[in-house]
Amino acid sequence: MSRSAHPAGPRHADVLPEGHYSAPPADLNTLDPKVWAQTVTRTADGVVSVGGIDVKALAEEFGTPAYFVDEADFRARARAWRTAFGQDADVFYAGKAFLSRAIVRWLHEEGLNLDVCSGGELATALSAGMPADRIAFHGNNKSEQEIRRAVEAGVGRIVLDSFQEIVRVAHIAQSLGTRQRVQIRVTVGVEAHTHEFIATAHEDQKFGIPLAGGQAAEAVRRALKLDGLELIGIHSHIGSQIFDTSGFEVAAHRVVGLLKDIRDEHGVELPEIDLGGGLGIAYTSDDDPREPHEIAKALTEIVNRECEAARLRAPRISVEPGRAIVGPTAFTLYEVGTIKPLDGLRTYVSVDGGMSDNIRTALYDAEYSVALVSRTSDAEPMLARVVGKHCESGDIVVKDAFLPADLAPGDLIAVPATGAYCRSMASNYNHVLRPPVVAVNDGEARIIVRRETEDDLLRLDVG
Ligand SMILES: *Cc1c(COP(=O)(O)O)cnc(C)c1O
Repeated sequence: MSRSAHPAGPRHADVLPEGHYSAPPADLNTLDPKVWAQTVTRTADGVVSVGGIDVKALAEEFGTPAYFVDEADFRARARAWRTAFGQDADVFYAGKAFLSRAIVRWLHEEGLNLDVCSGGELATALSAGMPADRIAFHGNNKSEQEIRRAVEAGVGRIVLDSFQEIVRVAHIAQSLGTRQRVQIRVTVGVEAHTHEFIATAHEDQKFGIPLAGGQAAEAVRRALKLDGLELIGIHSHIGSQIFDTSGFEVAAHRVVGLLKDIRDEHGVELPEIDLGGGLGIAYTSDDDPREPHEIAKALTEIVNRECEAARLRAPRISVEPGRAIVGPTAFTLYEVGTIKPLDGLRTYVSVDGGMSDNIRTALYDAEYSVALVSRTSDAEPMLARVVGKHCESGDIVVKDAFLPADLAPGDLIAVPATGAYCRSMASNYNHVLRPPVVAVNDGEARIIVRRETEDDLLRLDVG
């Protein structure tokens, strides 16, 4: 994804330094609908608004930094996935992308199911009224206590991730006098990355049981023998931020191969196949994600074709999008604090948050875009790096982006597509208080996760 330096542009250099950016956009005031939530628009007075409320009013009421979620957009995306897959498939929203009780209620109302992968996520889901049978429980090291709670609650499925867990879940279910519906997570030998997939070195990871060497077949053999388990299907999740379906094609081929082997060996046709999540979103204007209906069509066709070839009844498909539902629906609003032009390099723009509210840039070298949202500007573009307030030089929010050269302290800037893996990965580094999440819809804004307070911090500090 690395693009070469572009020779035109900012005031500080004739030739731009090496970095991940394309040419400055023709107009810095235009908001690309690809990366902004649906109701985000620039109003006549130049201020950006979401859900009919402008960001200056939002900053005044809720402070900065803060995440703003476009509820209508979230619901529309959830519904689009649900509709695309229809009644013969299930859509599980991956709660780890971002989970709160309001989100659980929206998902429930829109007919989606929910993936959780810890006791905390399970508690959130149950406390907001998600029916247990619509919850799937994931993770490579669920504790006995977490498994017991999940079985007692009656979760729809537990996704088994190791040989130890097959026995653990069977034992707990049996001790509770029940049979737990389970899937076995396999690694198919495909690791998907942005724009590509690599068919080597794939089993070298902590999740799942490898198909290779007959390990997954052995796991199935053991699970089928245990009274506490009802094996309903095979699960495969190949990666994240994926833009094409070729990785899923290989995965489906191999999972169906296993279903066929299971039929031949045990005379059992497992009724379900879960292809995981990982569908990509646009973080910058250079990303071109596919629509849910295109993905649904492609995946359904692939599974049906593979099953036909193997003479298997087509299983019920499930998918687990997280990022693709919540990612594009939110942005983070920051206030600019200090501005440091470094001659021949770029201008460092410091905001009132940073790696504590968005760790993805530091963690994955993720790319983001950014815009001045409290006003328009006709100033020339300058190459900027948006950084946080933490004691770490890697505390970067947006590595390379163009902002107007007249940017000043007090301006509000917003980073779009921060709905997934930002608040859910937020930390208290430097005892910074985690920002609130505010849902905006139809002229109304309401806090769904409040801002942390110093009292919250001190409450945990009991020394
Ligand atoms: C992380 C994860 C997902 C969701 O991934 P996205 O990239 O957010 O779509 C789905 N299923 C499993 C098992 C995961 O671990």
